Amino acid sequence: MESLTEGALYRNTLRTLESAGDLIKINANALERLKLPRRAVIVSVPVKMDDGRVQIFPGYRVQHNQTLGPFKGGLRYHQSVNLSEVAALSMLMTFKNSLLGLPLGGAKGGITVNPNLLSMNELEHLTRRFTTELNPFIGPDKDIPAPDVGTDSQTMAWMLDTYSMDSGFSQTGVVTGKPIEIGGSHGRECATGLGVVYTIEKALATRNRKIQDAKIAIQGFGKVGMHVAIEAFALGAKILAVSDVSGAIYHPEGINITQLKKYIDENKVLKGFPNAQGIDGEELLELDVDVLAPCALDGTINSTNVDRIKAPIIVEGANGPVTMNANDELCKKGVLIVPDILANGGGVVVSYFEWVQDIVWLFWQEDEVRQKLKTIMYRSFDTVWNFAQEKQENLRISAMGVSLQRLEKAMKLRGQAW
Ligand code: NAD
Repeated sequence: MESLTEGALYRNTLRTLESAGDLIKINANALERLKLPRRAVIVSVPVKMDDGRVQIFPGYRVQHNQTLGPFKGGLRYHQSVNLSEVAALSMLMTFKNSLLGLPLGGAKGGITVNPNLLSMNELEHLTRRFTTELNPFIGPDKDIPAPDVGTDSQTMAWMLDTYSMDSGFSQTGVVTGKPIEIGGSHGRECATGLGVVYTIEKALATRNRKIQDAKIAIQGFGKVGMHVAIEAFALGAKILAVSDVSGAIYHPEGINITQLKKYIDENKVLKGFPNAQGIDGEELLELDVDVLAPCALDGTINSTNVDRIKAPIIVEGANGPVTMNANDELCKKGVLIVPDILANGGGVVVSYFEWVQDIVWLFWQEDEVRQKLKTIMYRSFDTVWNFAQEKQENLRISAMGVSLQRLEKAMKLRGQAW
């Protein structure tokens, strides 16, 4: 078990779990059960590379808890993927799904590989073989993977096809985040970013502010950050600064996100966008804005820059962008931090909608998906906010508290760990 629990993310997640557990006075047996995943599958995935060599990649699927329903969580292709990171992320999925009121458990998976170094052909073979190795453990009623860092709707299409070949008939519900043509949901692409924007609206409302009058800085312009920018801009917010791996840009009156998106479609990165000034990526984090939305990396707000953060509201679009120590310091100063398991939950909510639509073979229009997503995000924010007011706690511990209360009740009803 040591290799499972030794990583920093796992230890940090346990810390939050223990603090929230203390707060709700969780049953000691339930807490012990939640500290470890139910099952961790390690596979080796051989791929015949384009040059004829066979290369073996380590792959993982960690299934943390299925008290509330089938396991659910993304698959990550990245060179830093390891068992402990995947295990910690699987635990976070259990807490996120519980917090959002979804009938799903938590899982996560991944392959230690740099997908940028593989051809499309190699990626397809990697994905198909990985799916075959995971076949006994996944399925529409068992465990439903989705895209994460380094994977996308094409990866899910290959998984769906391989799983369906093995079972002998089409099984669209085995993965979510699929292309629309093969059972994907409208609104899935923008779901995480849109969910972040709904929580920005709610966070601003707690300070009697509206998104239309807000100045926002966004770190990252990928699957999450880009949609935060597009959706917030559409609602009238001023997006003062955005960044990506190439650098950051700033405009004191707000960046025109429609123009920026067009520029990025043509140039791939935001560096060189003519209608804004280039700034340092670190400077973006320290801007005097109403809302800072870190949507790129983990650990981006930490002990080296925490003293210079000026935004009164931070909404975590990425997973773990504010370190534990920075979180404590900022909360002491009165900064409102909407934690990742709440703020970036929109993706899994619409994944859940996709799974439901695949089961009943009835597909919804985008406005219906957006409305249902808004209802869940607003309701989840309110529940966490009310819990935080009642217990006089920060939103991170409160989100975990709300999540644990639901899980504990379900575990008790099922007679687990009692
Ligand atoms: P992505 O790969 O699509 O985008 C990442 C973005 O970050 C890119 O624009 C990249 O250029 C930028 N970036 C990289 N290094 C940077 C740096 N040093 N400074 C500024 N920008 C930098 O990934 P994503 O799917 O948008 O995921 C981002 C984060 O959100 C991750 O932590 C992920 O786990 C989390 N998340 C994603 C989803 C989802 O639905 N995609 C859901 C929940 C959580």
